[in-house]
Amino acid sequence: MNDVEIHSRAQSGRVHAAGVAIKDLRKSYGSNEVLKGISLDVAAGEVVCLIGPSGSGKSTLLRCVNLLEQPNEGSIHVGGFDATDPDVDIDKMRRKVGMVFQQFNLFPHLNALRNCTIAQTKVLKRPQAEADKIARANLERVGLGHLADRFPDQLSGGQQQRVAIARALSMDPELMLFDEPTSALDPETVGDVLSVMRNLAKEGMTMLVVTHEMGFAREVADRVVFMDGGVVVEEGVAEHVISSPTQGRTKEFLRRVL
Ligand code: ADP
Ligand code: MG
Repeated sequence: MNDVEIHSRAQSGRVHAAGVAIKDLRKSYGSNEVLKGISLDVAAGEVVCLIGPSGSGKSTLLRCVNLLEQPNEGSIHVGGFDATDPDVDIDKMRRKVGMVFQQFNLFPHLNALRNCTIAQTKVLKRPQAEADKIARANLERVGLGHLADRFPDQLSGGQQQRVAIARALSMDPELMLFDEPTSALDPETVGDVLSVMRNLAKEGMTMLVVTHEMGFAREVADRVVFMDGGVVVEEGVAEHVISSPTQGRTKEFLRRVL
């Protein structure tokens, strides 16, 4: 996909409006500077895969986008919100952003349906019946409509991760952040999760995905961003970055993961 196609895809009347604009982002833990001036945009409707070695700052970057971590410098715009404005309504902003982690973090004492309704009723104050309806629709969407009554320990890892995705979708996010969503899964369940994510991308969801699944990145991502040591080393059209990287560090990383 070239730049024009990316642009038209983002402009083609998609329902999800929010994009992300990150500029000169810096984040330190004590004296350890983990993000050293990251600039990265995700246009509305675009899918960007973030790749890079362990410790390069990928999770920290994602966590800064919904203010699970407070950036030290730089700016982040998410949808209509300036995340780094001290007066930003964090709760309102976070509602636009769905996050899916490597560890699914489902509530063990709630069944799949209730895992998908609790934030809807508590945070969005939706009536239970409406929340149930939305949750069921999203469980259907991830292929788990028939398992709505199951508890997390009665589901495979891949099924639990799909519940986590349905839970995030039930909040009507305009942007989805995925942090290595398939890294903790048994190989045989990875495909189902990736296929749910592929469908979301097709529906026009704006997605920023940290992943080591290069096949997924190549097929689904509009762009791939390679990070190392807290900086963006290389970025571009997925096929170009994965098949013909220009930077030594990118080449070395891809040699290890492909
Ligand atoms: P990645 O997701 O690319 O593996 P992370 O963003 O998790 O990288 O971590 C980047 C660096 O920041 C690592 O050196 C890690 O040890 C450090 N780090 C991450 N979270 C914290 C934290 N809460 N406190 C201190 N250091 C952290
Ligand atoms: Mg990480």
